[in-house]
Amino acid sequence: MSGADQARHAAAARAGLSIVVPVYNEAAGLARLHADLIELARHLQGRRALSCEVVYVDDGSNDGTLAVARALPAAGLDVQVVSLSRNFGKEAALLAGLDHARLGAVVFMDGDGQHPPALIETLVAHWLDDDCDVVYTAKAHRSNESLTRRIAVKAFYLLLNWGVRTKIPEDAGDFRLLSPRAARALRQLPERNRFFKGLASWIGFRQKRIDYDPAPRSGGRSTWNFRSLMGLSLNGLTSFSLAPLRIATMLGLLLAALALLYGGEIVYETVVYGESVPGYPSVFVGVMVLGGVQLIMLGVLGEYIGKVLFEIKGRPVYFVAEHELKHDAKRDTKLDVTMHDAAE
Ligand code: UDP
Ligand code: MG
Repeated sequence: MSGADQARHAAAARAGLSIVVPVYNEAAGLARLHADLIELARHLQGRRALSCEVVYVDDGSNDGTLAVARALPAAGLDVQVVSLSRNFGKEAALLAGLDHARLGAVVFMDGDGQHPPALIETLVAHWLDDDCDVVYTAKAHRSNESLTRRIAVKAFYLLLNWGVRTKIPEDAGDFRLLSPRAARALRQLPERNRFFKGLASWIGFRQKRIDYDPAPRSGGRSTWNFRSLMGLSLNGLTSFSLAPLRIATMLGLLLAALALLYGGEIVYETVVYGESVPGYPSVFVGVMVLGGVQLIMLGVLGEYIGKVLFEIKGRPVYFVAEHELKHDAKRDTKLDVTMHDAAE
């Protein structure tokens, strides 16, 4: 490593690393995760002089997760516990974590043990050694998922990325690292309706993909079901792409063209052969098709209008009920933290 490289490296490491963990009813596995994070923080401190903090965002759990999180020791890293006033959903919890993260770089990871803490070291290496800004992880394969789910995922990303310049990578998860400047960029995005995977790739900078095998959940169960996944997909789609509206336009054009051809044929047959086309069934089918398509497209329009209403109301994305910060007991000097908003 050259001297300049070393200086740059040291400057980046001085910024520190905040690890944001949204937790919703994860009391069972939290102590285990924290022990792993402590070990990781010690390792990073020793090898790279990188200071860490962890920000647990309790998303209105009702199983004692908050009490468990509060009791976690700040040894080798600072610990913040942010508790939201109710369950706001994972995307809101991630934003709360991002807002409270005090150090330069930010890692987002799940609190259910599916995101291996050991992988953070790899993410950090790509940030510090290769100058990557957004290091995101993707499932190496989906062979353990059902065929219908895989097809649905494919269709979702096809629609999402249709005709847009900044494609959102397929299969990317929420487990990712953002360099200080990428985290700053993400903080500047004003929208309330957050789709983190999309936003983190939309901001640009140097992006890097890492494949990994997610572990099974350490305890509890996934809160996602078919309905909430549909909700998230629709949300992602309508916040990121105008494809559904474009499809409406194209479908309209196609139907109009078909109607024109069919109308032409009717006129032709009446004039040339003198046949009057029997009307009732064809009219019926036509009305049904048109009515159905129009209702669907009204629904699509409604989704977008709802989104506009939601943004215009400008409500906060979450409320913090309690916030606690524990400084690392063993470190003699407090972290030299320049709060991000103070720095800007
Ligand atoms: N989570 C959250 N709020 C919620 C639902 C989930 O903060 O309303 C957290 C959850 O505790 C976990 C992460 O988000 O740390 C991922 O959730 P889950 O494991 O249910 O999702 P999956 O891994 O199935 O995508
Ligand atoms: Mg999970």
